[in-house]
This record gives sequence, C-alpha cells and structure tokens, in this order.
Amino acid sequence: MMPEKTDYLLFSKEFTKQESLPTESIQRAVEVMQSGRLHRYNSATDQDSEASLLEQEFADYLGKKYCLACASCGSALYLALKSAGVKPGDKILANAYTLAPVPGAIVNAGGIPVLTEITNDYTIDVDDFVTKARETDSKYLLLSHMRGHMADMDRICEICETLGICLIEDCAHTLGARWAGRLSGTFGDIACYSTQTYKHINSGEGGLLVTDDDIIIAKAILYSGSYMLYKKHLSRSALEVFDSLHKSIPNFSMRMDNLRAAILRPQLKNLETQCQRWNERYAVLEALLKEVAHIRVPARPEKESPVGSSIQFTLEGVSRTQVQSFIAECGHRGVEIKWFGSDEPTGFTSSFEHWEFVSDIPKLPITRNILDFMCDFRVPLTFSLDDCRTVAKVIKQVATNIF
Ligand SMILES: *Cc1c(COP(=O)(O)O)cnc(C)c1O
Repeated sequence: MMPEKTDYLLFSKEFTKQESLPTESIQRAVEVMQSGRLHRYNSATDQDSEASLLEQEFADYLGKKYCLACASCGSALYLALKSAGVKPGDKILANAYTLAPVPGAIVNAGGIPVLTEITNDYTIDVDDFVTKARETDSKYLLLSHMRGHMADMDRICEICETLGICLIEDCAHTLGARWAGRLSGTFGDIACYSTQTYKHINSGEGGLLVTDDDIIIAKAILYSGSYMLYKKHLSRSALEVFDSLHKSIPNFSMRMDNLRAAILRPQLKNLETQCQRWNERYAVLEALLKEVAHIRVPARPEKESPVGSSIQFTLEGVSRTQVQSFIAECGHRGVEIKWFGSDEPTGFTSSFEHWEFVSDIPKLPITRNILDFMCDFRVPLTFSLDDCRTVAKVIKQVATNIF
C-alpha cells in the first residue's frame, strides 16, 4: 500500500546554506575596503592591522601566547608541520578519518602520512596510534578532532609526552569545544583552525595557528610570508628570535588579509552563542535519532563538551547495500547524508583509500568497516529546531521502510 501523501515527509532546506554574516562584520569589511588597506602589512603607521588584532584576540580567547592568521587551515597545518621541524621523509601519524587537506598538508611538508585506525565513536584508536608510533619512531601526531569528536585528550597528551611526540591539533571542527573544561587546541604544541565557510566562523577561506612556543611562532610567521615586516605582528615572540631565523626561512606566502580578519573579529565575539545554538540543534537530532531502530548515535564522553555543528551515526544490523539505499532515499527526500563508504570520492567527501598520493596506503579494516556504516551531515544554523525535527522524522521514515 502506498503511504498517504501526508505521511511521506520531505525536507526542502539546503544543507549548505549558512547564515548571513553579522552586521558588524559587514560594516567592518566595508571600512577596510574603503581604506584600500587590504594587505595585512599595509597598515598606517601607529595602527594595528585587522589581521594583527584578530591574532591577538584569538590567542586571548584560547589563553595561548601566540596566533598567526593564515590563508586556510590547510596552509596553517602545513606551516605548523614545517615550523615544528618536519623534514622530508619524516613520518607523521594521523587518524585515518579526516579530511583530504590533512594528508595534503603532510605531503606538502615532505612528510609521509602514517594513518591509524579509528574507534566506534569515530576518534583515533589510541592502541593503534601507540603501536604505529613505536614501529615508525614517528615524532609527530597530527590529530584531527574530526567532525567534532575528541579522543581522550588526557591519554593522548600523556602518550605524546612519554614518546616525545609533538602534538598538532586539527581543530577545524572543534572551535569552541572543550575536553575536561579545557578548550580544544590548548592541548597540543600547535593547533590549527579553519575559518572556511562550513566551519564555526566564516570568512570564505582562512586558517588560524596557535602555539605557546617562541621559536615555532617566529618560524610560522616567517614561513607565512612576513618579509621583513614581522615586527608589525602583535602576537609574536621577541624580535631577537626572528633575527636569527629571518634569512634562513623561505617565504611561502600564506597570509590572511585584513578583509577576512575584519569579518572574523565580530564572529569570534559571538562564538559562544553560536556554539549553544548548534548544540540545541544537535540535542534535538540526537534525541530523535536515538529512538530509531538500527541507528546508533555514539554517547559522548562525559569530559567532552562538543560543538554539535554536525552529527554522525552508525547503521547497525543492516547490509552495506541497505546503507546505500537508505542514503539514496534520504537524498530523494531532501536529507543529504554524507557517506565515507563510497567507492569513489564525491563532493568534499573522500576516504583514505582515495588518497593515492599517500605512499603505501594502509589496509585499515576497522576504519573501513566503521566508515561503511557511518552517516554524517552538517547542521547549518539556518535550520530551525523544527527543521531538525523534520530531518530526524524523514530519516526515521526511511529507516523504517528500508530496514
Ligand atoms: C575543513 C578542514 C580542514 C581544512 O580547512 P581549510 O580551511 O579548508 O583548508 C582540515 N581539517 C579538517 C578536519 C577539515 O574539516
């Protein structure tokens, strides 16, 4: 029997539609454009540039000593690896469930990605990480808090310290999230954030690098393309540190401009509110999806305070073919689910087997199996709580029909 038309729920909002930028961002952007001073080093004498001010405010927000504004998070990750001392051929550990710019940054720095398995709750498999760290003697972990899921950071930090591993956090999805009350990005030697349109603050493209290390920040600033103008940075180590480095560090031209910095500064002030709004939406989705047979939404660790800007769940007790039918049918009904189980990369989504630029792509059967049954979508703030209810109801109807 055909379901009644009213029973056949559809969703019609765009999963990729972001909110307008705050009025204050727009006003500041106009001011910067009127001034013509778009390049970060084009500030008037005695005036701090928008980029410098953003760096100072971002470092203060995190309680870190230094911040550098970059062209993108991918370039920030690359600068982090270079500034941490990665040499060509160095092995870099990384959780295999991440986005393509992460192995990209490693390869760009001349490193060799050593991808580790993940667990059922989508975080790095700590045992596999330790095994591979010992096997390869790697001195770097590039840890993605992928889709906002944080591993046990107490354990990660302890292991990194014991094994002498430099920890670089990829916080593209965890700006504003906390582990045991401490902001993500304050655990590692370096942390990088994205200000690309789909992340927590939006400047189209952009990245932020933070560290407490006097040498690392000096190197990162020089690598980012500061010419001999590094003095203009408010968030930097003493000039003597630069004096010994500035002739030996190449200029990779990966700066952020004043226009983007100007539109980010008001967004940073508003971040806590936005994070709460994401979490309200996440809570609605989580509660409804948990009720659906064959759907498992992993419980979040007690110490984790995530930002629910996206949601992931695992389909259990179904076949891979059923997963494909489920995702296709949700798509027909306007609920766009991302799937890391696809044979071919699509849109923004690719998984580790697709990264042919990685030498010796590892067999990671556990991760493969987890990704094959995992569903994922972002929750833009243009969705109301009612929209989230509709999305969950569509998913429930489809699951009920197919499983
Ligand atoms: C988006 C993203 C990046 C890269 O950010 P860009 O600013 O687009 O370079 C890195 N890591 C993860 C996990 C991401 O989602």
